[in-house]
Amino acid sequence: MREIGHFIGGKHVAGTSGRSSNVFNPATGEVQAIVALATDAELDAAVQNAKAAQPGWANTNPQRRARVFMKFVQLLNDNMGELAEMLSKEHGKTIEDAKGDIIRGLEVCEFVIGIPHLSKSEFTEGAGPGIDMYSIRQPVGIGAGITPFNFPGMIPMWMFAPAIACGNAFILKPSERDPSLPIRLAELMIEAGLPAGVLNVVNGDKGAVDAILNHPDIGAVSFVGSTPIARYVYAGATANGKRAQCFGGAKNHMIIMPDADLDQAANALIGAGYGSAGERCMAISVAVPVGEETANKLIEKLVPMVEKLRIGPYNDEKADFGPVVTKEAQTRILGLIDRGVEEGAKLVVDGRGFKLQGYENGYFVGGCLFDNVTPDMDIYKTEIFGPVLSVVRASNYEEALSLPMKHEYGNGVSIYTRDGDAARDFTSRINIGMVGVNVPIPVPLAYHSFGGWKASSFGDLNQHGTDSIKFWTRTKTVTSRWPSGIKDGAEFSIPTMK
Ligand code: NAD
Repeated sequence: MREIGHFIGGKHVAGTSGRSSNVFNPATGEVQAIVALATDAELDAAVQNAKAAQPGWANTNPQRRARVFMKFVQLLNDNMGELAEMLSKEHGKTIEDAKGDIIRGLEVCEFVIGIPHLSKSEFTEGAGPGIDMYSIRQPVGIGAGITPFNFPGMIPMWMFAPAIACGNAFILKPSERDPSLPIRLAELMIEAGLPAGVLNVVNGDKGAVDAILNHPDIGAVSFVGSTPIARYVYAGATANGKRAQCFGGAKNHMIIMPDADLDQAANALIGAGYGSAGERCMAISVAVPVGEETANKLIEKLVPMVEKLRIGPYNDEKADFGPVVTKEAQTRILGLIDRGVEEGAKLVVDGRGFKLQGYENGYFVGGCLFDNVTPDMDIYKTEIFGPVLSVVRASNYEEALSLPMKHEYGNGVSIYTRDGDAARDFTSRINIGMVGVNVPIPVPLAYHSFGGWKASSFGDLNQHGTDSIKFWTRTKTVTSRWPSGIKDGAEFSIPTMK
């Protein structure tokens, strides 16, 4: 059985705790590897390596730091096939979707190639007589990232790319469900020229997370995962004096106005609701058609589309989506669908019985569509994180708007309409972090920032974009006055940064 250990000081290190977790192939249910779960001592070993490497890295000028990312981006592109296969095999998503997962992370690496410009600061000449005032941004020191299973390429890169570009050392604690790709990314960073010890990967579960929260030398913690754990990590990190940004779960609504192009809206709902088996924090899980006529027409379009969805293993090139990540996830999703039926929602497409020949032990769930869902139902309140779309009928725009407004989560939301005035009113009033207008999954690009509101996010600075440069650096403001000094002497050859 393949054993996945840790990556510390630029080397693979076997786990010593005697504790491990199974890594499954979700399409077959087979255990394909075991991953070590770190002890406090193993986390500390990574921190000591990071501590030794960080000052030299911070003193490496930003152009040279940027060049590591230039090379890393090239290596990601050169190895894309191998990386996507590695990701899909443990996560279950299709190869094309896995490439998207990696490319969304790669784009953050492209963004941080601009670090010489991004990390420049402010200067006021003559803030007083002979006085200049300036602020500099210095790395926090050692940062840590705790990531979820659903984007094992993108989310580690959201975190380590800006953290490292800013001159920090970094400890990544990936999801124990799909740990192979994060370790491979760390290897490629070394190949790209990153000094050993600047990026360490420590595998583990709650024990490793607690060790991060309690370690005095870790200055900043970034977390992405479910809301209860996001709250826990935010509370623990901040109580220990660390800065923290913690992103949680979601229940993303799409409002379909009576004037929307219903074919476009239906296509958008199918992709955003069922892509990656609904295991995306920006998946649309609630459709809100406005008016009975809109609702009836939409359901009529959606039913055959959901029935036709092709579900298969990651290497089925024609599959729309693959299995969900674990047996527990499958059981949980099927249980929530049963609950929706009990609560009185109308299950117009029932994917509960889906079976795939040759993959009978895989964690598949067929596409499900609920109509007549109401806000008091568990299937409306809970993040299902599976291929299940709920339709909540609203009689007018105000009622539709009030649904995502009142929901606990505030990650993403979308409106489909041809009416610019409605779209403008919606984007202005909605209390949600990422808003799409005729765009189903409004995931901001790397040079903007990603983050939800309400129970979807704890802390103030978002992932990537200029927020990430602020999160991974501390501001120091200097007020300076110089006595009169030597005025002669000159350099004649042009200085360069070779
Ligand atoms: P999860 O919360 O179970 O795990 C996330 C991380 O926390 C993992 O590294 C895991 O090892 C660790 N962890 C799990 N239980 C813990 C505990 N009791 N104490 C300390 N650490 C613990 O999440 P998941 O199932 O891997 O990912 C799915 C969730 O992530 C969904 O809720 C999804 O919406 C959310 N998500 C949010 C975003 C976002 O940007 N808001 C992005 C992707 C995923």
